Amino acid sequence: MLGNMMKDQLLISGILEHAIQNNGKTEIVSNTVEGGIHRYTIADSAKRSKQLANALTALGIKKGDVIGTMAVNGYRHLELYFGVSGLGAVLHTLNPRLFPEHVEYIVNHAEDKYIFVDAPFLPIIEGVLDSLKTVKGIVVLTSKENMPESKVKNLICYEDLIANESDEIVWPEFDEHTASSLCYTSGTTGNTKGALYSHRSTIVHAWFSSAGNGFNMTPSSIVLPVVPMFHVNAWGLPYAAFMFGAKLVLPGPFTDGESITNLIKSEKVKQLVGVPTVWLDLLNYTEKNNITLDSVETVLVGGSAAPISMIKAFQEKHNAFMNHGWGMTEMSPVGTMNAYKPEMDEMNIEDRYELQTSQGKSIYGCSIKIVDDNGKTLPNDGKTYGRLVVKGPGVIERYYKADQSALEDGWFDTGDVSTISEDGYMRIVDRSKDVIKSGGEWISSIDLENTAVGHPGVAEACVIGVLHPKWDERPLLFVIKNGIEDCDKDSVINFLSDKIAKWWLPDDVIFVEELPHGATGKLVKTGLREQYKNHLINN
Ligand code: ADP
Repeated sequence: MLGNMMKDQLLISGILEHAIQNNGKTEIVSNTVEGGIHRYTIADSAKRSKQLANALTALGIKKGDVIGTMAVNGYRHLELYFGVSGLGAVLHTLNPRLFPEHVEYIVNHAEDKYIFVDAPFLPIIEGVLDSLKTVKGIVVLTSKENMPESKVKNLICYEDLIANESDEIVWPEFDEHTASSLCYTSGTTGNTKGALYSHRSTIVHAWFSSAGNGFNMTPSSIVLPVVPMFHVNAWGLPYAAFMFGAKLVLPGPFTDGESITNLIKSEKVKQLVGVPTVWLDLLNYTEKNNITLDSVETVLVGGSAAPISMIKAFQEKHNAFMNHGWGMTEMSPVGTMNAYKPEMDEMNIEDRYELQTSQGKSIYGCSIKIVDDNGKTLPNDGKTYGRLVVKGPGVIERYYKADQSALEDGWFDTGDVSTISEDGYMRIVDRSKDVIKSGGEWISSIDLENTAVGHPGVAEACVIGVLHPKWDERPLLFVIKNGIEDCDKDSVINFLSDKIAKWWLPDDVIFVEELPHGATGKLVKTGLREQYKNHLINN
């Protein structure tokens, strides 16, 4: 028997209308590409999203058309989030850190009709423009007086485009499974592939991840997402802020420690959201300048594993709790979070920090389990390693334009290896391609890297498995020195020796000036693995 309730569809335009009625006065603050701080309210933003939607209609954009954006976290980009998807068109966010050939491939594969770009990224688009097959026009996200010089014919100015449009619209109604936005993976472990989100997946993900055990978005939230709006919709925060009336503070192109500190101070930011490298920079800056971030209550971290030294520094220097989460592009992206729980108060502080290095418990709406190579479910005992698979309304079913489903027995394989404890704490051991198989046992490259960065002379560490005649693979450690304290092979090995099992100790330590990173800031180990695969055999 079916229930008798309305089949009202969950649409992104519905978030906007809800926000206008209930959260219209909530402020949105942006650091701008042009320089200076811009302030307005959700009501102002919504009016401009509607003007934009009318302008897009005038350009001939219809339901299902794809609109590219290459822009930082700022108010105009936010207007596109609602204006494009509200019409039933698809917002395709492009990562400016991708190689030009990737940008070209992605724009053609997605069939973008227009690209909206921040002026500093215009040269990237200009560089590939001749190869873009479906693009009819480029819109620069700025005002007339700030329009850049360009060889692009008929370059459109965003402010001119929307200026004379009505700020009223009757949003179209359609099925909530309709596509709303598109994001390509950064290709850390292979070819870049599209994750095509729907209105329903976007809304349920933003809603579930904003609960108290997640981002904890409320009308008293003041949240600064450093996570880019050009990758996985800034983890859904633009939608969540409009749903729950949280004040958004957008950093624009300025994500260095000093700029973030200034924004935190001027806006009394309570919640920070970003990847570990950004927080490392913030901690270094505040440490050097003896600054305490008094207003900050929580620092959400994910994208890569957060080292214990970082969790401790935020707690002890800034009285801020680090909530360690995990997810991926294919999951909208949040899967697990490690929010504060009362039982943490009962724990010895060092044990609590250790617990916080776990990526936490699955949020409602995302089921997780670990399986062996034959797909058999493994026990949640906190010790057994397995392939981490997920399922839920925010998880991908197939990649964009793929003929085949991406699922195995109804679950999506994340490519990560993890443990799950009896009470649901998930701990990423490694990417399945990065885990080191030594004599039939597994060594976690992530654990080794995070322990190594605790050495006072180490800025960044990277561990790969290389061939070994007896043990199949052994760990090789690459280190970038921070120049603060001396650091050589012996001191690094000594430092590690009482913190990890003896058989985990790297067979060699190599000092480098740089390590390879992908477009989302993660270490890319494929090149190093190729270059150094015979290092232990030849030396
Ligand atoms: P890409 O797939 O292009 O590398 P994503 O941003 O989707 O980009 O990355 C997802 C991957 O990042 C996860 O599968 C996992 O390996 C890693 N990851 C994300 N959060 C964490 C975390 N907190 N700890 C360890 N690894 C993480």
